[in-house]
Amino acid sequence: MSVAIEITGAIQKQAWIDKVSPPVEQVSAFVWSVAIDFRENPVRHTFCYILSNESGECLIVDPGWESDDGWDDLTAGLALAGLSMKSIVGIVSTHYHPDHLGMVGRLAQETGAWIGMHEREVHFLDSRLNSGEAMARDRDWLIRCGVAGEEAESLILTPAEIEYYRGLARPTVFLQHGDALPLPGRNIRVIATPGHTAGHLCIVDLDSEVIFTGDHVLPRITPNIGINSTGEERNALEEYYQSLDLMIEWDAFEVCPAHEYRFRGLAERSRDLKLHHQERSQEILDIASATPGLTAWQVAERLTWSRGWTALNGVNLRAALSETLSHLEYLVRTGRVSWDPDDDLRSPARVRNVLKLRR
Ligand SMILES: [Zn+2]
Ligand SMILES: [Zn+2]
Repeated sequence: MSVAIEITGAIQKQAWIDKVSPPVEQVSAFVWSVAIDFRENPVRHTFCYILSNESGECLIVDPGWESDDGWDDLTAGLALAGLSMKSIVGIVSTHYHPDHLGMVGRLAQETGAWIGMHEREVHFLDSRLNSGEAMARDRDWLIRCGVAGEEAESLILTPAEIEYYRGLARPTVFLQHGDALPLPGRNIRVIATPGHTAGHLCIVDLDSEVIFTGDHVLPRITPNIGINSTGEERNALEEYYQSLDLMIEWDAFEVCPAHEYRFRGLAERSRDLKLHHQERSQEILDIASATPGLTAWQVAERLTWSRGWTALNGVNLRAALSETLSHLEYLVRTGRVSWDPDDDLRSPARVRNVLKLRR
């Protein structure tokens, strides 16, 4: 699939090729990007953005993974921007993932800044409050997906994973679609873009003509669109499609994603991501039609994965399953397939091809 985008973060891309950390860059008069260390993760770092004003105050978008190295990265970035911790008045996390929200707690404690997120992210964090409940719900979810025995035991959330989420910062301000972020003299807006997570946000800087897309739209990686064991019923893929459509309006803006590199061509990239998922849905429909009665797990096994199904494990395997599930839910809600049984949530659900059954 060809992607006709213009890479504006050439230094960031070169740093990726050279396997070095990209430098702090001034994106526009009042915007800086700072690469925050993301340990051994394949994406290597998260781009944290500093949005300032003429009075020397600033907002931070996505402070990144919590670590002392990351803290040093951010401190150095602020200094290069002529700012300090004292300049920070507000912190926005585009979503709850720890490579975005991780350092928010420490930063808020140090600065007293407000923390802005979408309310739906709190639902996820709440779903991890009680380890016993979270593990029981996760076990039911795995059974429902058709994962059994040792495989289920190896995939189930561990108390340590659940504990980790409990330690993440909570928002002090709920941000909604269309909200203006309070930074005097600046025109910065919130766009709700559910999909990658239920409460994912993008931020538009109308003065600099820049859009911060978090993990919603990345130049090369296709973000995971999954349904997890949170107990929240949602049509993640439908939401993602709608959120991609919202991007077309900002096509002329430079895109500042949370990973990889800056680019232009947001409408084109959004269409490409949509096409990717439409092809994925078709592949799933073909599998379901060829072999009726498969569980979500069995469908996932039969799908093509870039490094092959057997190479997946742990977190990646869960991500593959949750993405397969989001496609199946989408197909169920558009009447292409159905779950059997559709009501007993404690037994494995099998995919029936509705069109085939009716014939
Ligand atoms: Zn994410
Ligand atoms: Zn991320």
